[in-house]
Amino acid sequence: MAGGWTRDGGVQDQIDASVEDAVKLVRSRLPDGEGLSHCEACETVIPEARRKALPGVRLCISCQSELEKRQTAPTGYNRRGSKDSQLR
Ligand SMILES: [Zn+2]
Repeated sequence: MAGGWTRDGGVQDQIDASVEDAVKLVRSRLPDGEGLSHCEACETVIPEARRKALPGVRLCISCQSELEKRQTAPTGYNRRGSKDSQLR
């Protein structure tokens, strides 16, 4: 199979760019390296147990869950909402 389009450098560039974006996104959401003793956002002390469980953690539990809610809410909430309204 000698598909001409697979040799097109432009296509490969696009794939590389999106992989890079995904890696950046994952890195920003899963910090590695040194964790912080105090929350990056509200400066609450991060319990040692949490820092051990999540190496590189930079947010306290409430800020982390707030962040996760904001990141997942738009699609998750709408999908669940429309499913419920279809079922009922
Ligand atoms: Zn916090």
